[in-house]
Amino acid sequence: MAPETTLITHNYQELLEAIHDSSGLEVKNPATGEVVGSTRMGSVSDIEAAVQAARTVQPVWEELGSDQRADYLSKAADAVDASAEALAELLSREQGKPLNGPNARFEVGACAAWLRANAGFELAPEVLVDDESGRAELHYKAVGVVGAVGPWNWPMMISIWQLAPSLRMGNTVVLKPSEYTPLSVQALVYVLNQVLPADVLQVVPGDGKVGAALTSHPDVDKVMFTGSTVTGKAIMRTAADNLTRLTLELGGNDAGIILEDADPKAIAQDLFWGAFINTGQTCAAMKRLYVPASLYDQVCEELVKVAEATPMGIGLNEDNLLGPLQNKQQYDIVVRLVQAAKDSGARILTGGEPETEQAGYFYPVTLVADIDNDNPLVTEEQFGPVLPLIKYNDLEQAIQWANGLDVGLGSSVWGNDLEACKKIAAKLEAGTTWVNKHGAVDPRVPFGGIKSSGFGLEFGIEGLKQVAVPHVISY
Ligand code: NAD
Repeated sequence: MAPETTLITHNYQELLEAIHDSSGLEVKNPATGEVVGSTRMGSVSDIEAAVQAARTVQPVWEELGSDQRADYLSKAADAVDASAEALAELLSREQGKPLNGPNARFEVGACAAWLRANAGFELAPEVLVDDESGRAELHYKAVGVVGAVGPWNWPMMISIWQLAPSLRMGNTVVLKPSEYTPLSVQALVYVLNQVLPADVLQVVPGDGKVGAALTSHPDVDKVMFTGSTVTGKAIMRTAADNLTRLTLELGGNDAGIILEDADPKAIAQDLFWGAFINTGQTCAAMKRLYVPASLYDQVCEELVKVAEATPMGIGLNEDNLLGPLQNKQQYDIVVRLVQAAKDSGARILTGGEPETEQAGYFYPVTLVADIDNDNPLVTEEQFGPVLPLIKYNDLEQAIQWANGLDVGLGSSVWGNDLEACKKIAAKLEAGTTWVNKHGAVDPRVPFGGIKSSGFGLEFGIEGLKQVAVPHVISY
């Protein structure tokens, strides 16, 4: 059993003070430009110290055994629940996402859910051979020290995706959060560390250089990286020197294909949230939608209705369901791609002009029709509140278009005939294909990309195997 800890319910100010450093980096709310707080940024020598401490404590953590580690993870989930509202407020202020809808409260809830789910998983030894020739068993042990680097779109949840299976298997973890969201991840770790033994989980905020110091460190045995394909490739290059194990969850450009028997009105809400969850800043959001000519006008019309009824604004306003882009760099990408679509003669159904009345990086939900499949808004990852709708006359052509890019994270098929949908799903090149939904993840179901979307699986028993080393015992 993990030792009894009285869980503290932190309020927002307490959380902020715990990670505050007035001489550090000033973090601003992307919805308002107001300062959220200041925090220390780490250095390469902080990585050195953290990795050494993680290395020292790792055998002790592994030695505790599976049941005790599961117990710690369950208690860590309780700690997240106890401070959930303060964590959600900080996340909303720093990341920009609204409290409600599939946003800040949802993200904090997912953190607790993933911790509990991992506590419940057990990677038992497998008996491979047991006959007159002998017996062979496959066991799994911790890899050692895991270095985890994350992005700014779902900063808390993705950190949990990395740390929960790692700790469950007996690894220790050093996290390097995105420089755009250092507060959220530090606050989360502060809450978890009420429960966890010292140095089992550490966080070093910093920029890409600090990230590179972690991912190229010879004493880091496994790197879990979630972010862009460009950074993933850089990490893979340096990993070669130490043969560091890698899980790379990289960018996507997920396609959705609507079949001719779909009911546009019935699927409009799910289509919308499949594309616009977290204001489109989601790796496995639907980023291009292929629509049969026979349903094209109706799908456009129904999506516009949902888009125009969904409030966007400051995250702390309880009514809002969509927020700003998290940073200027991403905002500029969205502006550029919508401009490219307009320049090509594509038709803007709603949105299409940068928001100028609000202080933050707001861009209205933008639906773009009559766009060619080779337009940059279709071929590049927009990672924002914009969706191109591409008309098709031939389903085989739509499948080819969907598979035509060098990424393969998620994809989806929408229609009334489940068997027909599954047949098309089987032809799509992606780590996951959803039917009549898009982007739904579950801690029990493995998730990962193919092609330039990366490799390695997260979640479930498969996820545990990725942060373990196999050990065959044969007699
Ligand atoms: P990014 O690659 O710019 O940054 C990600 C992290 O890597 C940051 O913490 C950054 O500081 C760090 N970093 C930068 N250079 C580094 C280096 N050389 N070595 C080590 N670390 C380094 O990505 P981003 O802009 O934060 O995130 C957006 C991208 O992430 C999108 O492409 C999105 O699709 C992808 N993403 C993928 C998933 C997934 O599960 N597949 C989930 C979320 C986001």
